[in-house]
Amino acid sequence: MNLILLGPPGSGKGTQAKFIVEKYGIPQISTGDMLREAVAKGTELGKKAKEYMDAGKLVPDEVVIGIVRERLKQSDCDKGFILDGFPRTIAQAEALDRILDELGKRIDAVINIQVPEEEVVKRIVNRRSCMKCGAVYHLIYKPPKEEGKCDKCGGELYQRDDDREDTVRARYKVYREQTEPLVDYYQKKGLVHDINGTKSIDDVFKDIDEVLAKIKV
Ligand code: AMP
Repeated sequence: MNLILLGPPGSGKGTQAKFIVEKYGIPQISTGDMLREAVAKGTELGKKAKEYMDAGKLVPDEVVIGIVRERLKQSDCDKGFILDGFPRTIAQAEALDRILDELGKRIDAVINIQVPEEEVVKRIVNRRSCMKCGAVYHLIYKPPKEEGKCDKCGGELYQRDDDREDTVRARYKVYREQTEPLVDYYQKKGLVHDINGTKSIDDVFKDIDEVLAKIKV
């Protein structure tokens, strides 16, 4: 099962991807996570990406396309994959089509998680992530048991540089302008399934899982 998760920042793509990984045993390919890892390690790629990320802008297409091309060639993607945060532009979607053609694969479904801007802002500015294991918390909806500390590994919780309100609004704008056109792109291919992302995490997953159950692969 080869999936794309579409939706604005803070729509719950990462959270839902983890549920799908658990239930279906296919890997999550998050370009955001891969880029953050490169930034943390201080690699050439990370140095290139950081400026764009901190400003809430998209990293240049050719950079992310290269990362995804290499990742999709790995053998754990043979049984399927979940693309989370990619593609984000029409150029990325077209490149993905070419990569999948080369690999003899195709996308089975695009899950389009819809959440309005004000809800996104409310979610993201209260989001905290674990420095060590990447677990994600929300100060109001899903607070850690002990303030500032990860329930899972005890790591320190921090706010992503791009999770501040002005950056979040910039990211939403970028989403509307550059990523939302992808809904139309994939609708033409008959692949889009709209999901109301304002429900509870469990209910959103139920709705997604209903879609996945119907997909014949
Ligand atoms: P995310 O964790 O998916 O919200 O991504 C965080 C940031 O990484 C984005 O705001 C972009 O700066 C960058 N990024 C992640 N995925 C992509 C992509 N497919 N194309 C361009 N930039 C990306």
